Amino acid sequence: MAQPLPAGKLSVGTGWRYSKGGKHAAFDYPVEIGTSVFAVQDGVVLACNDGVTNKSQPGVVGAKSNWILLGIMHGGQKVSVLYQHLSPGLLVSKGQQVKAGQQIAKSGSSGNATGPHLHVAAMWGHRTTSTRYDYLINIGPKEKEPNGTAQNEICIFPPSLVYTAKKASGRVTSTSPFAAGDVFLDKLHFGSKDSDSVRRLQFVLNNVKLVQGRNLKVSGNYDIDTKNEATKWQLQIDKCKPGTLSADGNIGPKQAAKLFGKSYTLKAHS
Ligand SMILES: [Zn+2]
Repeated sequence: MAQPLPAGKLSVGTGWRYSKGGKHAAFDYPVEIGTSVFAVQDGVVLACNDGVTNKSQPGVVGAKSNWILLGIMHGGQKVSVLYQHLSPGLLVSKGQQVKAGQQIAKSGSSGNATGPHLHVAAMWGHRTTSTRYDYLINIGPKEKEPNGTAQNEICIFPPSLVYTAKKASGRVTSTSPFAAGDVFLDKLHFGSKDSDSVRRLQFVLNNVKLVQGRNLKVSGNYDIDTKNEATKWQLQIDKCKPGTLSADGNIGPKQAAKLFGKSYTLKAHS
């Protein structure tokens, strides 16, 4: 049975860089051992490794771990998604076709890890065992966190772009943690910070076709880019008059009701 990720329950530990500056270029989700791991899209298991006990080996480069390399299509192009540090007893095997939302493993703490977490990375192309770390290659020491393809043209960062963006068909994937959940209306204004309601707005805006629309970083911060996209929606879709309060880039209750579909629950206050 396909199941979406639990809405709003995932937080990111390490992202683009480790706290000491080393390149990571992946998302670490600090979750307990045994947490269900799902396929982000329909795809094929390109390679995997199983049978390693859940014993963290922090700092041991090359320590054996359980992992899955899933080949999917994203925006009409091949992408590989690496799931790392899984528990032994994978639910899939090499060459297997999987459906979006299908459970493929349980998270764990196998390999070079400081503790239980799920590491997810994404890179262009369908990779093999020997190239599963290609996303780390040629990322410069000064390269800032990109919003899309890194300068090495391999890494897609944040990897959530791969599972929050439109499918090639234009259909929205249901596996994003921001594809459903509560939206607090008092957060939908310029200046809000680190809010899941804003992440849900950014997710929704990323899936609306706008003239000269751009893909927003799903950051939770209601920044100037988010305000600009909200204004485009107000002008182009809600047909508000330029320069009026209803086209000021802040989303009011009536507009929220139009923007967010049935998967969301609108609430006045957090
Ligand atoms: Zn990691």
